[in-house]
Amino acid sequence: MVGPRLYHYLDVPGQHTLEVYERNGGYQALKKALSMDRATLVDQVKAAAIRGRGGAGFPMGNKWGTIPPGSTTIYITCNADESEPGTCSNREVLERDPHQLIESMIICAYALEHVRTCYIYIRGEYRLGAERLNQAIQDARAQGYLGDNIMGTGFNLDIWVFRGAGAYICGEETALIESIEGKRGQPRLRPPYFPTVMGITNKPTVVNNVETIINIIPVVLYGADGYKAYGTEKSPGTKLYCMSGHIKKPGVYEAPFTVTLRQLIWDFAGGMLNDRKFKTLIPGGASFQWFTEEQLDTVMGFDEVRAAGSNLGSTGIMVMDETTCVVDAALNLVHFFAHESCGKCTPCREGTRWLEQIIWRIEHGQGRAGEVDQLLDITDNMDGKCFCLLGESAIVPVRSSISLFREEWDHHVTHKNCMVQRDYRMSSTAQPH
Ligand code: SF4
Repeated sequence: MVGPRLYHYLDVPGQHTLEVYERNGGYQALKKALSMDRATLVDQVKAAAIRGRGGAGFPMGNKWGTIPPGSTTIYITCNADESEPGTCSNREVLERDPHQLIESMIICAYALEHVRTCYIYIRGEYRLGAERLNQAIQDARAQGYLGDNIMGTGFNLDIWVFRGAGAYICGEETALIESIEGKRGQPRLRPPYFPTVMGITNKPTVVNNVETIINIIPVVLYGADGYKAYGTEKSPGTKLYCMSGHIKKPGVYEAPFTVTLRQLIWDFAGGMLNDRKFKTLIPGGASFQWFTEEQLDTVMGFDEVRAAGSNLGSTGIMVMDETTCVVDAALNLVHFFAHESCGKCTPCREGTRWLEQIIWRIEHGQGRAGEVDQLLDITDNMDGKCFCLLGESAIVPVRSSISLFREEWDHHVTHKNCMVQRDYRMSSTAQPH
């Protein structure tokens, strides 16, 4: 690890093995943490204000603070069910640097004291990541970093990898817990089932995203103040930004939270593909408000993006150029949400289907007068009425693209074709039913 930069060794060949990981400073943070007083460790995590990297930005230390005092069985679960469109940062870490996650989880478990079992809930499609995690766990156990009496401290811990079955909703923490318990992956009602109070088998369970957990390593090595040397005051540290779409160099880039969208597109990702004109982007995965050129200088920290009208989300940044049809793009995203709706509540189950059917008609030249307003009406009827955030997220691409590009939607309905010179269609041509 180089300073608070966490992913410096991600491209080093063999970094996923214990030998190379240790050669590059691996497990030094664990050794230091095990020599620290637990209360000091927890205080450092709280002082560092590690913001949750999974979307909400809720500080990890604050989450720990909601565990009922006196709890004698606590679970830690790493949410590696990365399924948000445009988001692939966890996969890079799981496949290329799995020991970093294992080491971080051991430190978190040690800090919280009453943790004997941790789970890593990994997206089912991430087969290589699961294989490498299992190998890393095996090697860490053989080296004495895991199992009974870790490094002679008397601390015992096991970590289990749990492979999901490919449902996006299992990235929602209560659905993830249901899935680990062997039930259908559907969200629980909150309150009362906040996981840190009633999680796996009704015991306190801390669910954190991969990147969030890993951020404990620089806090241990450099202290809260050293960690805060990167990023902004309220968004300390670095983040992996997933760049996709019409850019020259799609990929995952590490940068402090002070980076701007313009820098990410032109300095990191090489600029617009074929030097075409920028049109719009989604800054945080499929679930959040789109940005236009006016927001390109937005600093990519939690509060800054929120102040600009969207959300950092999973930092899956999807860039679209002037050849993009926004109706087509919205259809593509709404199809995803309709497909992934778990069906538990009516506004989401029915609403996402209606949205998809109407947008499909508009996109394929069959739109009827008044249907653009009808789409907005449906989103109003879903807003605030869905059981979990999936349903609320499905309305965002519709509202965003209509509010920013209404003229294009109306052109589709009136002229039965697209006003954009596009090269290809993003969405499926199969009619939804
Ligand atoms: Fe399931 Fe959608 Fe309702 Fe969430 S909002 S519980 S995903 S049907």
